[in-house]
Amino acid sequence: MWTERYDLHSHSTNSDGQHSVADVARRMSNSGVTCWSLTDHDTISGWAAGFQAAQQTGIRFIPGVEITCKPGLKAVDAELRLRSKERASASWHLLAYFPKGELGSSEISQFKQWLTPLGDDRVPRMLEMIERLNELGLVVEKEKVLDRAGDSVGRPHLADELVALGYVEHRQQAFDEWIGDGKPAHVARPLPSIEEATRIVRACGGFTSLAHPLYYGIPPQMLAAFCKQAGVDAIECFHRSHSDAYRFALWTASKAAGLCITCGSDFHGIDFNQAPGRMAVPFASLPDVLTTESTHSE
Ligand SMILES: [Zn+2]
Ligand SMILES: [Zn+2]
Repeated sequence: MWTERYDLHSHSTNSDGQHSVADVARRMSNSGVTCWSLTDHDTISGWAAGFQAAQQTGIRFIPGVEITCKPGLKAVDAELRLRSKERASASWHLLAYFPKGELGSSEISQFKQWLTPLGDDRVPRMLEMIERLNELGLVVEKEKVLDRAGDSVGRPHLADELVALGYVEHRQQAFDEWIGDGKPAHVARPLPSIEEATRIVRACGGFTSLAHPLYYGIPPQMLAAFCKQAGVDAIECFHRSHSDAYRFALWTASKAAGLCITCGSDFHGIDFNQAPGRMAVPFASLPDVLTTESTHSE
């Protein structure tokens, strides 16, 4: 049986999304989603609004977060070529879900404590990138960049400011020429390993799924074996950017390794030409905890 009722990957203005949490919830519901997760980058600041919005729209809310991690494996050239990728992304994204998580519980507080420095790192790092841009002759005011962000400032905010100032024509150009990985104004930040992030999420009562493997350049079987050994529970086989053939290859490899799968639109907003929901996924391969009813009512 296939279902389109799950969308386990989305962003709000709490990270680099365009819409408020309530707006994302409404759009999910309008797309027929009944089980929705908000997974802002390295922050859980949208959870309270998520619980509230889900209650108002009558859908189930799974509190989540997308954790930026160090790559788990070195990319394989042949796989990159096969997936038409020039290079692998500099970080791997790990989705963490807390289906039974309650705000204020000791487990969630412990997780938040671990996560906060990762998010906080974003401000000093952003200031350093702005300083580099200034040295390179691109005058950018830090207040303007921080104003564009909610709780979690990221490179897209800086890119938008560079567009507004007329230094570049669009976001992608800002990344390609200035702030992308390895570009003149880029500043790397310390990242947790997949294993470390997985350990802490488990200890705090959650489970993990490796986000959008398309960007990592690892053959599906090798990827599934890595995830199994690293303690990752699932793979986001059904990501919006994946072709049907790639979804199938990942799904097959995940099943063989005894891993679950997840699906996600990675919705950032309509201005990015994206839509929430409508992610057909095989019901039986979703994690049990998502396909059985919630044990609490927040
Ligand atoms: Zn991601
Ligand atoms: Zn995402």
